[in-house]
Amino acid sequence: MNQKSESDRVLGRRCRLCGCTRPLRLYPLEDFSVVRCPECGLVFLEIDLGAEKIKEMYSGDYYENRADYFFDNPVLNKGRDEEDTSIRNFRHGLELVKVHHPDAGNRLLDVGCAVGVFMTLARDEGWEVSGVDISDFAAGYCREKLGLDAHAAGNLAEAGFEPESFDVITLWDVLEHFEDPLSQLREVNRLLKPGGVMLVDTPNQGSLIRSVAHFLYRISGGLVDLPVRKLYHQFHLYYFDTATLGRLLEEAGFQLVHLEGRPIPDEKGRAGFLGRLAVKAISIPERLLHREFELLAVARKPVAQTKP
Ligand SMILES: [Zn+2]
Repeated sequence: MNQKSESDRVLGRRCRLCGCTRPLRLYPLEDFSVVRCPECGLVFLEIDLGAEKIKEMYSGDYYENRADYFFDNPVLNKGRDEEDTSIRNFRHGLELVKVHHPDAGNRLLDVGCAVGVFMTLARDEGWEVSGVDISDFAAGYCREKLGLDAHAAGNLAEAGFEPESFDVITLWDVLEHFEDPLSQLREVNRLLKPGGVMLVDTPNQGSLIRSVAHFLYRISGGLVDLPVRKLYHQFHLYYFDTATLGRLLEEAGFQLVHLEGRPIPDEKGRAGFLGRLAVKAISIPERLLHREFELLAVARKPVAQTKP
């Protein structure tokens, strides 16, 4: 393994947003460290990830181990009629897209489509939907169980879509999973028709709960690291705030047209009793301070692209 390929394989040595090669360690954890770029402020993981390792992370087990999260909803489980936060978010996203692109055609691509919940909702509302996911299991589930047009590809460029063929492209909780978010968003830009819109939903590094976790970690000299370990994990490689997300969108050729905070979903039940209590306690101040748990952005591909 030569030096260059290693630095490209190990995240954390170079900021993939601004190119800075001096990221600073925020939290050295067991299997990885959380680092912050001193130039642009991007927070990401220092972790060794070969492409094969990323693909392995999203095998069938990833979805089966999270069955409640992925399958227990009224879209895939007709016996359950109560709409949870993620379904309400998906409906809200479809509304936002219509508001910001009222003249759009109906071609929609969902990147990181998982087991097809959002695609099904969009199809029911009249969109002609396609999806792509790194997981063979997830794409196969979408095709075989739901009859959806879903492709398995870890890299958007490998999925073989035609340039400028989509009116809308959505990325729900997927941006933070990419090894190189900028190159993936540039590909999203290439696949969108001029004037088309992209919707991105991602955890907010500027959220109040992350500041509380940081404070506890710092004043305890790193001894109180449980909140940090709950909030940063190997599946989320990047953590954007409004500034770094704004810069990423601009570098990828987009104009931001809408940005809002989304609160912590009530169903963050995997965190256990104390975790749920912390989530409840923080949900009101995070709203008042506009430092919610997630960011939801809508960005447009300009009709006339300015040449650099
Ligand atoms: Zn940077």
